[in-house]
Amino acid sequence: MGESRQTRSNTIVFCESHFMEIDQLSSQEVIRYKRQIVIPAFGEKGQKQLKRANVFIAGLGGLGAVSAYYLAAAGVGRLKIVDKDHVELENLNRQILYSTRDVGRPKTESAFEKLHALNPLCRIDAQKAEIRKDNALELIGDCHIIVDATDNLETRKCLNSVSVARQIPFIYGGIDGFTGMVTTFVPGDTPCLECLFPETSAATKKVGAMGPVPGMIGAIQSLEAIKICLGMKDLLKNTLLCINGMDMGVKKLNLRKDPECHLCGIQDQCGKY
Ligand SMILES: [Zn+2]
Repeated sequence: MGESRQTRSNTIVFCESHFMEIDQLSSQEVIRYKRQIVIPAFGEKGQKQLKRANVFIAGLGGLGAVSAYYLAAAGVGRLKIVDKDHVELENLNRQILYSTRDVGRPKTESAFEKLHALNPLCRIDAQKAEIRKDNALELIGDCHIIVDATDNLETRKCLNSVSVARQIPFIYGGIDGFTGMVTTFVPGDTPCLECLFPETSAATKKVGAMGPVPGMIGAIQSLEAIKICLGMKDLLKNTLLCINGMDMGVKKLNLRKDPECHLCGIQDQCGKY
């Protein structure tokens, strides 16, 4: 039997497979994930790798709702989802985890219910919190992949600092109207966010969003996370993939590391900190 409980810090945890053998697939799992297990590049081995995965999703807006949905559906072992906001009516054109009746509820609470209903075999840790410089490391904990589904540079920089400090991948996604962009930062192998945005602050403005655009970008982020879990090397590294939904133009922009970067530049000389 599983258990659902409210813990300290507004964290909700539920897991039916918590006590199951992590390196085995149950008959239920084999059936549930059949259509991906039959993919030769994935197989039962890939499913077991996903089961061991521990993914952090920062933000449960348009990007986070989609990436959380696909990662839970795919059978990621544990998802830690964090957001500080409540569902608003204006969110519903793109944030597919929520319904009209969820308006006013904490996003973490609604998302937890939907994701658990979708796949009770996936452990969901939902925490209602604002991600800040002083708590990002603790919130991310022992997760080994960060999916950035936030909407402001300040929070992204907090996530990036943890990514560089802990040497874990950071999957960036952004949207603006009909346009979306995505890249995967891998410490030691790519630039970090700080290399690209060294400025200390930027004004946060609410941008417009056509629902399918965060749908596409969030789906790509979840696919990148799955590929990382499988140990696949062909990621969106050193490349910003830009999709213009207006004319369906797709561009890949090369990203370069800043040797002077105060985060990953120093690290190359001094090692982990
Ligand atoms: Zn850097």
